[in-house]
Amino acid sequence: MGAASTIRSIEVELDANPYPIVIGTGSLDQLGERIIAQGIKPGTKVLLVTNPVVEQHYGARAMTSLEAAGLLASSLVIEAGEDQKTPATVALIHDAAFQQRLERGSLIVALGGGVVGDMAGFAAATWLRGIAVVQVPTTLLAMVDAAIGGKTGVNHPGGKNLIGAFHQPKLVLIDPSSLATLPVREFRAGMAEVIKYGVIGDKDLFTELEAVARANPQGGLASLGAVGPDLLQSLLERSAAAKAKVVAADEKEGGLRAILNYGHTLGHVVETLCGYGTYLHGEAVAIGMVAAGAVAQTMGLWSAADQARQIAVIAAAGLPAVFPDLASGEVLNCLQGDKKVKEGKLRFVLPTAIGKVEIRSDVESATILKAIGAPKA
Ligand code: NAD
Repeated sequence: MGAASTIRSIEVELDANPYPIVIGTGSLDQLGERIIAQGIKPGTKVLLVTNPVVEQHYGARAMTSLEAAGLLASSLVIEAGEDQKTPATVALIHDAAFQQRLERGSLIVALGGGVVGDMAGFAAATWLRGIAVVQVPTTLLAMVDAAIGGKTGVNHPGGKNLIGAFHQPKLVLIDPSSLATLPVREFRAGMAEVIKYGVIGDKDLFTELEAVARANPQGGLASLGAVGPDLLQSLLERSAAAKAKVVAADEKEGGLRAILNYGHTLGHVVETLCGYGTYLHGEAVAIGMVAAGAVAQTMGLWSAADQARQIAVIAAAGLPAVFPDLASGEVLNCLQGDKKVKEGKLRFVLPTAIGKVEIRSDVESATILKAIGAPKA
């Protein structure tokens, strides 16, 4: 790969603000011209927000491309890490926006993982009551999930992502070659979300993953090197298309978008009770998907064979599948505090076939506990 001809565009078909997701090696060097193609005029002020690691690898290329397209670019480097995803860091972005005199027509570009994207997006949503943002994700998770769909925000001491806004980007630009520097554990965590799209709605994507898992059960999906550029391009396109479709059908999470939470309900329990940082989000989602599969199996909705197929793909991605040993009471308490509880009822996304899920509010506590291996009281 490497030829510009492999750069593809997928449209997020929203009525009010449709936008393209551009995917392909070398697209980072086209950042400026792709922004201009979205109707932004040369001479527009652009604030590039990134973090130190990403800046070191990709900052200069992004800035060169912005300047070559005649955009008036400045940059701000914020600290990396989930613990930096706070209103205080957003205030730093606002300060930079003020210093650079960003106007209504100006633009923020988020270059980084989901942390940078969520914060830069939220800063754009709130500066002057909303200026444009372009997402340039550099982690697999952000490429297939966080950068697409317009959810932006920061954490509150009371919980993750409690402060935020829906603010769709003008453009999402994905250069797969930027994954070359991503730590392998982060790559695997992103792969959990790719697998999720297969299970919830794209049988062909799942089959593509399964073929790789069959050929190399111990790691066929576990690193950039194992996956290779052609399969990676295909996985990125399919995942982006899957997310774009759900977002277009349900922009503000009224209903259908909830299916994207597959694996996240019990995954969230794992993240919370084991302490943030023990498991990466994607690792917890992998455990959560296997647990949701076990719940669905207990309820007679999902076959043992399909559960085995799901587990095989997760194993090939080098992701964990076994629910940690947690006390039943704590698990149930944590589930009650989940954002997915509606009118006191826990809503579970459960698989019924590869490529199909149902949202259920009738999952018994005993079923959940059985599915996660009946932990001690
Ligand atoms: P992250 O942004 O923390 O990035 C992970 C690590 O990789 C960081 O240390 C980062 O500096 C580093 N990194 C990023 N790109 C790199 C590269 N190309 N080379 C080397 N290192 C690189 O984590 P993430 O997994 O991308 O995102 C997680 C965040 O995304 C969470 O805050 C989560 O809440 C959010 N999220 C948002 C949405 C949404 O819809 N908005 C969806 C899913 C997750």
